[in-house]
Amino acid sequence: MARVTFHGAYGCVTGSATLLAWGATRVLVDCGLYQGDEALEARNRAPFPLPPRELTAVVATHAHLDHTGLLPRLAAAGFEGLVHCTRASRALISLLLEDAGELQEEEARYARKKGYSRHAEPQPLYTAADARRAIRLLAPLPFDAEHDLAPGVRLRYRRAGHLLGAATVEIAAKGADGERRWWCFSGDVGRYGVPILKDPEPPLAAPAALVLESTYGDRRHAPERTDEELRRVIAATFERGGTVIIPAFALGRTQEVLYHLAAMAAEGALDPTAVFLDSPMAISATELYERARAEHDEEMAALVANHSSPLAGDRFQRCRTVEQSKALNARREPAVIVAASGMAEGGRVVHHLAQRLGDRRTTVLFVGYQAAGTRGRALVDGADQVAIHGRPVPVRAEVRYLRSLSAHADRDELLRWCRALPAPPERVFLNHGEDPARKALAAALEGELGWPRPALPLPGDSAPW
Ligand SMILES: [Zn+2]
Repeated sequence: MARVTFHGAYGCVTGSATLLAWGATRVLVDCGLYQGDEALEARNRAPFPLPPRELTAVVATHAHLDHTGLLPRLAAAGFEGLVHCTRASRALISLLLEDAGELQEEEARYARKKGYSRHAEPQPLYTAADARRAIRLLAPLPFDAEHDLAPGVRLRYRRAGHLLGAATVEIAAKGADGERRWWCFSGDVGRYGVPILKDPEPPLAAPAALVLESTYGDRRHAPERTDEELRRVIAATFERGGTVIIPAFALGRTQEVLYHLAAMAAEGALDPTAVFLDSPMAISATELYERARAEHDEEMAALVANHSSPLAGDRFQRCRTVEQSKALNARREPAVIVAASGMAEGGRVVHHLAQRLGDRRTTVLFVGYQAAGTRGRALVDGADQVAIHGRPVPVRAEVRYLRSLSAHADRDELLRWCRALPAPPERVFLNHGEDPARKALAAALEGELGWPRPALPLPGDSAPW
């Protein structure tokens, strides 16, 4: 029996995993980490939907951890098949997983040392060695061409515009009735007309079924101009002698922020020596972004042709070492600190928040989606204190949320992407969204596009191919 079973990212936006089965062939589309509150993160340690050795292959849509972050655990549990991805994704996934492995080990060590974990002996979810095991399985493929995924199963990537290398995945295989049909997995759909990357492209085949993300299915991004808003926030914060902390997703948002900061610096509107990129991974990712010329949109291509380094602004300070990062604590002059992670759940930004959240002059500027249960969401929702490393920290800083910098298509952009399909899908499944978002998107697809009523799969729900 050919079937699709939905495992992760149901009613939430993390832990993406969809299992496809035809006969003995088993393919997992994405193998993402759950990120959010404790109950969500506990799912990361739950058994996989099938023994990893029985999996034929994994198809990764893009590098973000909520789509790839459990690959090291899968490899550690005995999976030895290929992890297909696009060429640009391979570089980013490698960077991200290695870092995730080290972070997992570091957090377990830290929790043990400080004794703030409820567990007597906190264990990492996986190690850097597990991550390297998963990285060795990555099998890069180009966009827009058909590839063999398994006997009788074809795979094609289309640009999703969401992140360097991010793909919409088209998979063709025969159903139980012997008929060959294409399924389309949108992956995370990016935005139109934003800097650096090419716009999202629709699938080439008319899909029999579409599995569509719905992160912002109930929202329209604010029409604010990202560059103008950034200028206003930085100017106001510098005026009162404060520091702008930008918790950035090391991949994607960081590069877009840097693109705008570099433009400000080029105009003389920002002192580049006051800008700190405090994340070794973001520094490396930025270099990959600059090198991946095939993925650049026209404006970025023109900048690369004229400048050596349009994202890192040439003169921005790059903090690779922990010492360089810690030295920022002593800085009293206004600064812009861009540090991961984007939802302020881990990474160096947590230490900067511990240092500066209590200071009224500080601005914390969020630049991407904040999942329920994260420290970032608590701050955006107006918490007057947050726990950091087991201690309460008062929030006196100004907290801002730049919605326009989201890496995700909003409701209207998702509809735009859907309208560009070669033909309406016969079946639609909405995943990767909190329930209000996917319900609203379902209503819009049915009402505005006249599509069949989308299914909102629950964990373990399945559908015939
Ligand atoms: Zn993503």
